[in-house]
Amino acid sequence: MPFQTHTARLTRSTALSGFTKHFEFEMQGVPRFGFVPGQWLSLKHTKSDGEEITRAYSIASPPDENNRFALCLNRVQDGFMSNFLCDMKEGDEISAQGPFGDFILRPPMRDTIFIATGTGIAPFRSMLHWLVADPSRHEDRQLWLLFGSRTEQDIYYHQEFLRLAEAHENFHYLPTLSRGVGDWQGLRGYVQQHVPGIVAGRTDMHAYICGLDKMIRANRDLLKSLGWDRKSIRYEKYD
Ligand SMILES: Cc1cc2nc3c(=O)[nH]c(=O)nc-3n(C[C@H](O)[C@H](O)[C@H](O)COP(=O)(O)OP(=O)(O)OC[C@H]3O[C@@H](n4cnc5c(N)ncnc54)[C@H](O)[C@@H]3O)c2cc1C
Repeated sequence: MPFQTHTARLTRSTALSGFTKHFEFEMQGVPRFGFVPGQWLSLKHTKSDGEEITRAYSIASPPDENNRFALCLNRVQDGFMSNFLCDMKEGDEISAQGPFGDFILRPPMRDTIFIATGTGIAPFRSMLHWLVADPSRHEDRQLWLLFGSRTEQDIYYHQEFLRLAEAHENFHYLPTLSRGVGDWQGLRGYVQQHVPGIVAGRTDMHAYICGLDKMIRANRDLLKSLGWDRKSIRYEKYD
């Protein structure tokens, strides 16, 4: 059976950095759009020559009792869809299928490290807002978000995650900069450099990793070399 195609209308877009935007959409014709944190949508656009382009985008907001959802995406050099989407204006519409995917929180809840670079933060923004909204969801487990960016300007949702960490003592927000300059007081270097310090010899946690292939491989290999079972490591690859 073919999947149902929805129409999503862009209601708001905001710049997160020079090449990255946060988008808010409303799914048309439905009172509520249901999904599980971590899932993605398949967006489709037909080019002027008739070629159909579809690309996957993780939902960057937690599910709610309404028809709204958010995306976080960046312009990929010479890429068609990312640039098409980044040029959309408020009120424009796009075809969407989904939600799809099994990059979702797996019970039982354990202490968890979320590792992202760039727009790989999208599913974790959804998962973390959903988790901390209700203590029965996180069961007071320790949650670490290790988020790698180049510079301070590239840390998407920085203030929002700082506020979340202030409000929830079991949520630890650790942005790290590969090209941090001057007075940056936080972590420096690549995400994988900080993983051993966070997991601290433990193998009884869960890890969720999202972003580009090279970063995911580095972190999976590292965790496996630290004795982790591969079933405790889940990942979503964007390229
Ligand atoms: C499950 C899933 C979820 C995804 N969620 C998101 C998301 O939330 N936000 C987001 O921005 N992207 C996300 N992506 C990537 C997205 O689907 C597209 O691949 C990306 O927007 C590029 O599409 P394009 O048509 O512009 O470029 P294309 O013409 O498809 O690609 C151009 C070139 O860029 C490379 N490339 C693809 N993706 C990236 C990237 N993200 N960064 C750098 N180079 C890339 C490709 O390998 C190719 O060589 C996700 C991918 C998957 C599989």
